[in-house]
Amino acid sequence: MWQEMNKPKMATEKGASRVLMLLGQLERLNEGPKASDTDATRQITGRILHIIQTQEKTRKEMMSKGSSGMDVILSTLENTRDLQTTLNILSILNELLTVGGGRRTGVFVSKGGTAILLQLLVSSSKDLPLNEELMLHIHSLLFKVGPKDRKFGVKARLNGALNVTVNQVKHNLQNHKLLLPCLQVLRVYSGNLVNAVSLGKSGALELMFEIIGPFSKKSTTLLKVALDTLAALLKSKMNARWAVDRGYMPTLLAIYQDWHRNDTRHRHMIIRKSILGCIKNLTNIKLGRKAFIDANGMRILYNTSTECLPVRTLDPLVNTSSLIMRKCFPKNRLPLPTIKSVYQYPLPHILAGGPVAQLHSLPPGVDDVVDESDENEGTEVDTENDTENEDDETGHKTQNDDIETDINKLRPRQMQARPFDELRVYERFCLEFTQYFKVNDFQSPGSVTPLSVDPNLHNPLIIPTKQNRRPKNIQPPRSNDPPLDLDSISISKALEGKPDPDLACSLGRLVLDGEISVNGESVNGPQEESGDQAVIEVPDTAALLPLHDPDLYLEMVKGTRSVPAYTEVAYPDYFGHVALNLREPILERAYGVQRTKIFQDIERLIHPSDILDRVVYDLDNQSCPIPDNGESLKFNSKFESGNLRKAIQIRKFEYDLILNSDINSNHYHQWFYFEVGNMRPGVRYRFNIINCEKSNSQFNYGMQVLMYSVQEAINGSPQWVRTGSDICYYKNHFSRSSIAAGGQKGKSYFSMTFTVTFQQKDDVCYFAYHYPYTYSMLKMHLQKLSGMCTNEIYYRQDELCETLGGNSCPLLTITAMPESSSNEHISQFRSRPVVFLSSRVHPGETNSSWVMKGSLEFLMSCSPQAQSLRESYIFKIIPMLNPDGVINGNHRCSLSGEDLNRQWQNPNAELHPTIYHAKSLLQYLRATGRTPLVFCDYHGHSRKKNVFMYGCSVKETVWQTNVNTSNCDLHEDLGYRTLPKLLSQMAPAFSLSSCSFVVERSKEATARVVVWREIGVQRSYTMESTLCGCDQGKYKGLQIGTRELEEMGAQFCVGLLRLRRFTNPLELHNHNSHLLDMENDLKDPRSIPNITSPTTYVLEEDEPAFLEEVDYSAESNDENDPDFEPDLQDNRVLPDPSSDSEISRQDSLT
Ligand SMILES: [Zn+2]
Repeated sequence: MWQEMNKPKMATEKGASRVLMLLGQLERLNEGPKASDTDATRQITGRILHIIQTQEKTRKEMMSKGSSGMDVILSTLENTRDLQTTLNILSILNELLTVGGGRRTGVFVSKGGTAILLQLLVSSSKDLPLNEELMLHIHSLLFKVGPKDRKFGVKARLNGALNVTVNQVKHNLQNHKLLLPCLQVLRVYSGNLVNAVSLGKSGALELMFEIIGPFSKKSTTLLKVALDTLAALLKSKMNARWAVDRGYMPTLLAIYQDWHRNDTRHRHMIIRKSILGCIKNLTNIKLGRKAFIDANGMRILYNTSTECLPVRTLDPLVNTSSLIMRKCFPKNRLPLPTIKSVYQYPLPHILAGGPVAQLHSLPPGVDDVVDESDENEGTEVDTENDTENEDDETGHKTQNDDIETDINKLRPRQMQARPFDELRVYERFCLEFTQYFKVNDFQSPGSVTPLSVDPNLHNPLIIPTKQNRRPKNIQPPRSNDPPLDLDSISISKALEGKPDPDLACSLGRLVLDGEISVNGESVNGPQEESGDQAVIEVPDTAALLPLHDPDLYLEMVKGTRSVPAYTEVAYPDYFGHVALNLREPILERAYGVQRTKIFQDIERLIHPSDILDRVVYDLDNQSCPIPDNGESLKFNSKFESGNLRKAIQIRKFEYDLILNSDINSNHYHQWFYFEVGNMRPGVRYRFNIINCEKSNSQFNYGMQVLMYSVQEAINGSPQWVRTGSDICYYKNHFSRSSIAAGGQKGKSYFSMTFTVTFQQKDDVCYFAYHYPYTYSMLKMHLQKLSGMCTNEIYYRQDELCETLGGNSCPLLTITAMPESSSNEHISQFRSRPVVFLSSRVHPGETNSSWVMKGSLEFLMSCSPQAQSLRESYIFKIIPMLNPDGVINGNHRCSLSGEDLNRQWQNPNAELHPTIYHAKSLLQYLRATGRTPLVFCDYHGHSRKKNVFMYGCSVKETVWQTNVNTSNCDLHEDLGYRTLPKLLSQMAPAFSLSSCSFVVERSKEATARVVVWREIGVQRSYTMESTLCGCDQGKYKGLQIGTRELEEMGAQFCVGLLRLRRFTNPLELHNHNSHLLDMENDLKDPRSIPNITSPTTYVLEEDEPAFLEEVDYSAESNDENDPDFEPDLQDNRVLPDPSSDSEISRQDSLT
C-alpha cells in the first residue's frame, strides 16, 4: 500500500499543519542547490524535531497514510553533509520509530531507510575523531530497525558496516552508554550465519568473552546482550571450534556455576539461560561435546539441574541442561551382535536390488550395529553456504512433493495384466458365479464345498440353498502333517474345587512338544502323571467368547508353521480375551515425565557403579546362562507372534528391552509381545524398549501398553488391560547404524519407557503393543464361524494360496443362499455386486484383525440386517494377507523382508504369493465383468486417533497440486465419498475429517491405489484404525479396545448395506458403469468440508502423515528446528528444540 502513495501534496493543501509546512519547505530545499541552504535545512529539521518531541499528533501526521514525510526526511538524511542536520534527523527518526510499532518501522524499511543508515554509519566512521553522539544515534536506530528488516544482515555486510560496529565495541568497552546499542546491533548482525563467521574473524568472539563474566548485579542488560550475541556467533562451527580451542568450554561452565550459586533468588534466570545457550551451541560440534565431557560438564549440569528441579520457574534451565546432556551423552552401540533379525528364512530366490539382496551384500563380519566409518567434523562450510536466514520464509516448500501430479497416472489404466487363459484358474474361487443347479440337487444334503482340492470346473457343481435343511458343517482343519504333539499339555479344563493358592507358583509354560517346563525346569512326561504338578484351571469363557475354544486353539497351533518352530503357546491366546466393560481413558500425561526419565538415563553415566547390566534374556545366545538369583524377572517370547530379542537388567527394578527385526530384515520392529514372570508385587518396575525407530509415538499422547495377567485370568478376568504409568517416548543415546536408517548417519534410536506395578504374587504377565491376534486365532475363529453357518448363509472357505512359510492363506466367500433354484433367484444370486475385503497385511496392526473379526461375525450373524446385506452382495474376504509375518512376530514385512503393501504393482508369485493371487483374483473378477463395487483393506494407524479411510480421487489429488486443471477437464463420480460419509454418521469411532482421498506417489504400489487404478474399483479404500484411542465422538478421550474395534467392523458392514440403498439397483446390475445417481444427496462435496488432509513425508508408513497434535520436539525432529545450523559434515549433532519450553509443552499434551 505504501507503493501506491503519490507525490507529496501536503504543501498545497489548505490548513496544512505546521509540521507539514516545514516538511514542504524541506522538500523544496532538497530539490535546490544544497550548499547554500545548510543553515535553512538545519533550522527546519531542528523545528520539526522540536514539534514532534512535544506533540504526538504531529508524529501521526508525518506518518499518516499517503504522507510522504518519511521520503522527505530520508532524502534530507541522504543528502546532507551537515552534522547537526544529521543529528536532528536521527533524533526525528528515533522519535518516530519509538512508538507506532512495526508499521512505522515498516515504512522506514520500505523506503530504503536501512541502507541509508548503514551508509551513514560507514561514511561517518571515516571521519576522525568519531562523533560519539552520532554513533549512538545510528546504532540505536539500527537496533530498532534491524529486527524488522528481513534483509538486514545482508545489507549490513554488503555496506561494510560489520567492522564499524565491532570497532565501536572494541573501543568503548568501558563506555556502557555507547556499548549497549552497539552490542545490540552486533546481536542482530550475528543472527546471519555468514555474518557470524565474518564477525568471528574480526575478533567479535574475544570481545564477548571480555564482556561476560562471573555473577554481578551490575550491567545485567549488557551481559545478557553479550551472551546472546556470543550464542549467535557460536552457531558457526568455525567460531565454536575457535572457542573450544581457546578453552572457553570450562570457562562457560564455571560462569554458569557461579551464577547458579549466587543468583539465589532467581532474579537472573534469563542470564543463566543465555549462558546455557552458549554452551548448547558449542556442543553442536564434536569437539565441543568432548570438551564438555572433559570439563565434567555432565556432572555440573546434572547437579545444577537437580538443584533447580524444585523451582518450577527454573524449568527452562533444567530443560536446556537436559538437552545439552543428552547431546553430549556418549553414544552407545546396541548390545547386539547384529541388527539383522535373529531368525533368517531362506528364500526361493532373492530379487537383485531388493532389501534382502542388500542385507546379504554386506561383507561377512561387518558390524552392522554401528557405522564403521568415522565421523568427520569436516571443514568449515558455512562461509560458502550462504544460509541467509533472511530467506527462510521464501525458501519454504509449500507443496507436498509426494502428491501424484502425472495426470496419466491418475487415470485408471484399462490394461489387462495377464491373458484371460491364465486368469481362468481363479474361477475356482468364484464358483458362485458358475455353479448351476438341478432340481434334484436341492434334495441332496447341501453344503458349501470346501475347495482346498482342485475342483473339476467342467462338471456341474452343486450349491446348497435355503431349502436344504441340513446340520451345520464344520470344516476340518487343513491337513498338514502336525509337526507337534499336544498330548502332554499341562492344562486341564476341569478343575474341581477352588484353585490351589500356590497354583501360580507353578505357572509354567504351555509346551507343545511333550516337554513340560514349569518354573524354568523341564519335566518330562505327561502332566497327569506327575502328581506334584499343579494343574492350571482354564477360565470358562465359552459363554462370553463364542468364537474361542482353548482346545480348538491348540489344535490350530499344531498346523501353524513358524520359522523358529515355536513349541509354546502364550496363555492369553489359549485362554482368550474377554473385552473389558471398563472405560479406559487416554492417559493424562504427568508433568515432567520425560525429563525425569532422561535424568535417570543420565545417572547411568554419572553413577556407573549403580548399573547392573545383567542379561536376563537373549535370543541371540540361547545357551547363555540366565541368572536365576530370584532377583531378576524372567522373560520369554518364544511363542506365536512373540517379539522380544533381549532383556537386560539395568537396576534392581529396571530393564532395557530390545525388539527383534522383521525376519530377513534389519529394522521395522515396533510390535512386541512377551511374557514376564518372577515378579514382586507392589514394586514399580521400569521397562525401556530401547531400539524403537519411529520419531514419535502415540505413547507420548496417552496410549498405554497392554498387559494380561494369568492370575487374573484364572480368577475370572481373562483379559488384556491397558496398563503402565510414566509412559514416554524419546530419543535415546543408542546410535543407529546408517545401514538400517536408510543411509542416514548419526541417527539415534528411541526409547519407549513404561512403569508397571504388578498386583499378584507369582504371576505370569504378558505385555503387548496392541491386542494380540495370532494366525492360529484366525483359524480358530474361522472354524467357529463356519460352524455358525445356517441354511440361509452361503459360506465357503478356500485356500487362496500357500505362503512362503508354508501356511495357508484363507479366502472366504460369504453371501446369502439363493432363495430357490428358479432362474430368477439364481440370476439374482449371481448378479450381486462383489465387495472385496482384506486385512492384516501389516502384522503389527493387530487392530485390523479385530475389526475384521467384527465384520465377519456380523456377516455370519442371523440379524435381518446381516441377511439383507448377504442378499445384497457377494463378499470376498482375505482376513490375513500376511500370515507368516503375523506368526513370526514381524511388525511390517513378510518373510521376504518386504512390506507386502508395497508389492501390489508387480507382485512376485513366489515371494509375494498372497498379493500375487489376491491381485490375480481381482483381475479375474474384472475380466469377467464383476469388478468389485467396494474394495477395502483394513489397517492400523500408529500415530493418529480414531478410525478413518483413505481413498482415491483424481480431483482431490489435483486440487492439492499446482497442476493446471484446465488441461485435464475432469468428470469424476463422487461416489467414493459416500461410504466414509455414511460411516461417520453411524460408527462412533469413525472420523470423516481424518479421511483423505489424495493419491500419493509413495503409495502407488499399495493395494488401495493399484486396485483403484488397475482394477478400476472407484471405491477403493484403506481403512485405518487407531492403536490408541479417539478424540471425537462417543469414545472421545478413551483408548480403543477390542469391543470398539469389532463394533467398527460390524458398522462397516451396516455402512455397506446403506450404500446399497443409496445405489440404484439397475445400475448396480451394471455396476462397472460407475455413475450411481442415487448417491447425489451424499456426494455433494460442499457437504464434506475439509475432508482431505494434506499429506507430508512419511517414511516406512503407508498412511499420509498427520498434522495432529504430535509435537516432534527436542529429541525427535531434525528438520523442524529453525535455529539449527544445517550441517552436512557433522551428523552426530542432535536436534535442538526451537524453544526450551518444548519438553514441558509436550508434557502438557494429552
Ligand atoms: Zn498398515
